Amino acid sequence: MPTCRHCSSTYPREQFIHGNGPMSQVCVRCGVEKGLVSKEDAANMFDSGTGSARLQIMARRYSIFLYIPLLWTLWVMVLKDVQPWGFYFLLLFLVLTLITPVWFIYRGGQYSGDMARLTPAYDRPKGH
Ligand SMILES: [Zn+2]
Repeated sequence: MPTCRHCSSTYPREQFIHGNGPMSQVCVRCGVEKGLVSKEDAANMFDSGTGSARLQIMARRYSIFLYIPLLWTLWVMVLKDVQPWGFYFLLLFLVLTLITPVWFIYRGGQYSGDMARLTPAYDRPKGH
């Protein structure tokens, strides 16, 4: 993946503006900020609404991997020695932990579809 020469960020080729000289190797966000390309021409730029929607979908997909260790920590700290709820919650968390990777893979298609829906339609210019 190429690197923008203004902000040194690495993006896919689609996130770069098209052109030579000062417009080469410039990401679309720096291109708009530095006035090299107008916002209307930068069809491939994520506006703040699209950006936050994409972040929200990503957070929803990966947040389960934050909750599983949190639940296990709470179980060890609070519920482990409580009879019989400690055992019931142990079984519940075991099932949850084992189902999570399967569910994660199963929902991968939905995630890709949502991300594609939130990607602006943009034809990559020839040579880019
Ligand atoms: Zn940049």
